[in-house]
Amino acid sequence: MQLLSNRSQPKLRALVVEPTQLYQGIFSHVLTGLDFEVDIASNSFEALEYIKSNTFNLIFLAMHLPDSDGSILCAKLRALPQTMNIPIVMLNSDETNTQSQKALVSGATEVFQKSELKELSTYLDHFITHANNEQIVYGRILYIEDQVSVAQETQSLLEKEGYSVKHFTNADDAFHELQASHYDLILTDIMLEGKKTGYTFIRDIKNLPGRYSDIPVLAISGINDIQRKIELLNSGASDYIQKPVLDEELLARVRNLVKMRHLLDQVEHQRTEMRELAMHDQLTKLYNRHFLMDYGPKKIQEAQRHKVPISLFMIDLDHFKQINDNHGHSMGDDVLKSVGLTLQELSRGEDLCARFGGEEFVMLLSHCDRESAINKAELIRVAIEASKVDGINITASIGVATLDVGKEADFDGLFAAADKAVYKAKESGRNRIETEEVKTI
Ligand code: GH3
Ligand code: MG
Ligand code: MG
Ligand code: MG
Repeated sequence: MQLLSNRSQPKLRALVVEPTQLYQGIFSHVLTGLDFEVDIASNSFEALEYIKSNTFNLIFLAMHLPDSDGSILCAKLRALPQTMNIPIVMLNSDETNTQSQKALVSGATEVFQKSELKELSTYLDHFITHANNEQIVYGRILYIEDQVSVAQETQSLLEKEGYSVKHFTNADDAFHELQASHYDLILTDIMLEGKKTGYTFIRDIKNLPGRYSDIPVLAISGINDIQRKIELLNSGASDYIQKPVLDEELLARVRNLVKMRHLLDQVEHQRTEMRELAMHDQLTKLYNRHFLMDYGPKKIQEAQRHKVPISLFMIDLDHFKQINDNHGHSMGDDVLKSVGLTLQELSRGEDLCARFGGEEFVMLLSHCDRESAINKAELIRVAIEASKVDGINITASIGVATLDVGKEADFDGLFAAADKAVYKAKESGRNRIETEEVKTI
């Protein structure tokens, strides 16, 4: 401990998410004693606030929180880039296994009983020993080996490195477990207990949906035959290691694969984020014009194929320029956000709400005939008029166009009709709805 407090590296930082003062005190005491910098959050809201603006090396998370379930928060943390791959230790106060299972499924690294302070200290000792070694990565390993003595040795080697390992002797149990929990690496022997060999097991995994089949697989086998090794790699193993296994070699390969897995997780996360960003308007969080122009024509074709009516609203705020001029651009932005929310609240799951441009919004509603469209547009008009932001009067002019069943038209035709209708609404005094016939093709 002395040595640790003298080290030159920055302090390790832990977040304790725990509602009771008693355990807040206990965990802070243990962690500060080990030279951690400690932050305490009493509920999931506070925890998320901390995580927004701070970087932690370790998170302790109570299973029961006043505003959320610990497992739900854990799953949320696993979806955030900054907490995706750091150890999250869940603290359970009742002894049931279902709670622990739930925690592991949600992405927890380890689960301890709150009263198991000894186990917790052992874990922390390991953590600190490895924390400043950049070589070390954390991860959950699913390990299948039928020789129990071999398994015990390997498991203990990996656990000493800070990995958390779950061991099985046959492929069926492991396969079941894989789908019930979150793993970063599968380490499998080839000759196994039961009917399935490692080959079959790997093939089964590769046939699962993406998030399981993407988990790297490190195969271990005593067979020293080049043809078999090629077969293994062809069946989907990411890497191969020969028995008898050298500890250093095993650790190096495991480390590489777990690191690769973490990188892929991050890439996948960024890709999802980019996809979302590309589709949405940042101010209102509605779909953007690009998405509307891409998806709109498909919705029209679908409606025509299924012989259902489809309607489009063009919603243009009235005298919006004056709102900006009188109350400032930032208040104008608040008005746009508020209108976005109103549109979303009034739409069904299958309706598409988009911000088309500055103060223009488009809604595309399938299964919506002319009469329902007019009623819905009126509802929206009234809701916008009633939604004062900071006392500011907001109204909108709405152009409505419907593509009836049996009529042939495309998205551009429907859009042009709604655009023409909104122009009419402006001409006739604003804060009103107008309709326009769609030109057939
Ligand atoms: P009309 O009733 O005829 O529609 O009048 P209007 O003032 O709403 O229409 P106009 O097209 O003249 O002005 C639209 C204004 O919307 C001008 C522009 O500065 C403002 N605007 C466009 N995008 C944004 C934005 O993202 N935020 C804010 N605050 N204002 C925006
Ligand atoms: Mg075997
Ligand atoms: Mg406009
Ligand atoms: Mg306008």
